[in-house]
Amino acid sequence: MGNLTWDAAPPTARLRYLPDVPDTDFDDLLAANAEYAETFVPTGLSGRARAGVLIVTCMDSRIEPLRMLGLDLGDAKILRNPGGRVTEHTMEGIILGVNLLNVSRVLIVEHTKCAVASNTEEELRAAVEEASGVDASGQHFPSVGDQYARLEQDVAAVRANPFVGGAVRVGGFVYDVDTGRLDRKI
Ligand SMILES: [Zn+2]
Repeated sequence: MGNLTWDAAPPTARLRYLPDVPDTDFDDLLAANAEYAETFVPTGLSGRARAGVLIVTCMDSRIEPLRMLGLDLGDAKILRNPGGRVTEHTMEGIILGVNLLNVSRVLIVEHTKCAVASNTEEELRAAVEEASGVDASGQHFPSVGDQYARLEQDVAAVRANPFVGGAVRVGGFVYDVDTGRLDRKI
């Protein structure tokens, strides 16, 4: 692993865009975190994927990537975005995962009732434009109607990436948000 370091220094300077007057926007969450930290037990985990698993999936709040696979904290790398697509940044994570972070199996997980998959890019643009009042004609949403076709395309792209060796297993799956069942498609 060469001379890579995994412990970046925390930011020390106050970020410029924090307001001078404290707001209460995040107080409930910070209070919850204070409770969490009180009983927090250091895990001693390294940041490598202990179970050798990397999951690419949608940002949908109905998906629990670890629990649905019987995994725990520390077991897997999780990369999420709208639709669970293998984007350029997702590929960066996969390359780091398989080469430096112990990943040997990659699951690309689409899901049923995905808002991104069930709308066209034009429909998403129109909805965002209506909600924001801002011209969304130049905004990109990587949406494609045919979920299976894009799953196939994404699995193929990962398998073909020269940084992802042949020993790495890559599968395409669909998660059913109504039953909790994960089905392998590719
Ligand atoms: Zn989705």
